[in-house]
Amino acid sequence: MFSCPHCEKPGISPLRKAILSPGLIATCKSCSGTSGLRYPSWLTAMLPGSILMIAAMFVDSGSVEWSLNSIGLILMIIIPFMFAPLRKED
Ligand SMILES: [Zn+2]
Repeated sequence: MFSCPHCEKPGISPLRKAILSPGLIATCKSCSGTSGLRYPSWLTAMLPGSILMIAAMFVDSGSVEWSLNSIGLILMIIIPFMFAPLRKED
């Protein structure tokens, strides 16, 4: 569980955090406070994966392209999940 920015208790489920993006709001199980991601931190977290997927468009080898796309997709899920901070929504 991830800690809620309102009550500091682990009220945000990992699944909710995984599919969270700007505009989508997570509700805390402890205090019912709502939280979400801010665009700048979300975009920064998406950047490494995006770069790999863009790089994949410029390689000729099919297997390299496939690898870059796969790693890029994984990074675009893992990095925001692990590192993008939750912020209070009012
Ligand atoms: Zn809370």
